[in-house]
Amino acid sequence: MNKKAIAVTASVAALSAANAVRAAMYKPEKRELKPYIAEEVDIERFKKNLSDAIKIPTIAEKSPDDMNWEPFERFHAFLKERYPLVHAHLSLEEPVQGSLLYRWKGKRDDLDPIALLSHQDVVPISEGTWEDWTYPPFDGYDDGEFIWGRGALDMKNHLIGVMESVESLLAEGFEPVRDVYLCFGHNEEVMSSEHSGAIAMCRYFKERGIHLDCVIDEGGAILPVNIKGVIDAQLAGIGIAEKGYADFTVSVNAKGGHSSQPPKHSAIGELAEVIRDIENHQFKSELSPMIMELFDSIGRRTSYPVRMVLCNMPVLKPVIKKVMEMIPPAASLIRTTTGVTMASGSPAPNVLPQKASVNVNFRMYPGETVEDVMKHLKKVIRNKNVEIVCEPGWKNPSKISPTDSRCFDALRDICSCMNPKSIIAPYLVMGGTDACHYEDVCENIYRYSPFLVDTSLLLCTHGTNERIPISALADALRFFKLYIRTLSNE
Ligand SMILES: [Zn+2]
Repeated sequence: MNKKAIAVTASVAALSAANAVRAAMYKPEKRELKPYIAEEVDIERFKKNLSDAIKIPTIAEKSPDDMNWEPFERFHAFLKERYPLVHAHLSLEEPVQGSLLYRWKGKRDDLDPIALLSHQDVVPISEGTWEDWTYPPFDGYDDGEFIWGRGALDMKNHLIGVMESVESLLAEGFEPVRDVYLCFGHNEEVMSSEHSGAIAMCRYFKERGIHLDCVIDEGGAILPVNIKGVIDAQLAGIGIAEKGYADFTVSVNAKGGHSSQPPKHSAIGELAEVIRDIENHQFKSELSPMIMELFDSIGRRTSYPVRMVLCNMPVLKPVIKKVMEMIPPAASLIRTTTGVTMASGSPAPNVLPQKASVNVNFRMYPGETVEDVMKHLKKVIRNKNVEIVCEPGWKNPSKISPTDSRCFDALRDICSCMNPKSIIAPYLVMGGTDACHYEDVCENIYRYSPFLVDTSLLLCTHGTNERIPISALADALRFFKLYIRTLSNE
């Protein structure tokens, strides 16, 4: 071997050794954990109350005038009947018709209160799909393994879990140090901010000068992450931000006329070019600190030799980004997405369109706004005769909550105490929740539903055969009790 070869071999060996050391050090951070209180839970009562809650079809409408209030009134009476201690010890107000705001007074009023959010409403059953359900969607059927029905995952499970935990803590004589608010909006699913119950509740806090220490709502979940020989863990994804939403209509106008004498390109032909411009110019992607922290938390739990690669995450950033851009679900985590969804043209087969339009749906990444989308469209579409309209109902992305707050630390500790196999990681929520409406009164907003549910089951949310495994209930209840016990303290 010549000198050069020896030098190269030695460098490779040194680098491999350095990498092996790095991989050996690449482990989850050690945390001092307080002893875990083995919370008592009454699963029979939780099951019964969740099943009965699903039987009440609390479906909201965009306008209060179109609302059928009867199921909501029935739901409120149901809560009063099933949770007598909550109703004896907590004050209850309806800041706007339908929304419930409970206040559990704490021992100290100089500390900021905490709030637990949930929505009472559920999405309707899509026409023509009633027959596809194994058990009727509003029967709350309990087959011993699952509780079936609309709202089982989104999110009567969460609301009833919160009520069960407060009732149970009250029965044990627990007294919070801080005020604890339970905020149950009535129209989260209709995405109409104008009459949103969450906005009314946030206004309630603002008007009284109440600043919240932390808010917890739906969004994140616990997912099993099992890849044989690589990782065997449960990922507790805590939503620290949510994406924005906007629909844009992009139209091209033309003369129209009879299709027997068409021009080279009709309005639809021109629009096709426009669509290609839009799709060919995706928004810039970014591996933000939030996403890097998510990968890092998972990477530290992988086994050799995967860990040998993942411990070099910062160096691999460009490769990871490239790969993620090619996989749509992964790409949605790192950029504003562009989805061309609906198109329209002429009303008849033999008529040239006078106007051709397309709807483009954008999910904005935190930091990008609806104005940025408008600017982007104007820049990338070469045809300057297009009409671009931002449709009502848009929502900018949320702010990003910190991962070093008292609340995030507590979430980490509780999840790790309850299950040493947990990976607690920040996460970006794709859909909208009520939580972002609380940004004016709180900086520490987290989206986390403590139910261990398989990804395939999560896909039933808003769909047919929505159901929750009964095995997920006990730990969720323990989580809520520990959460309130910990966070309502100093
Ligand atoms: Zn929901």
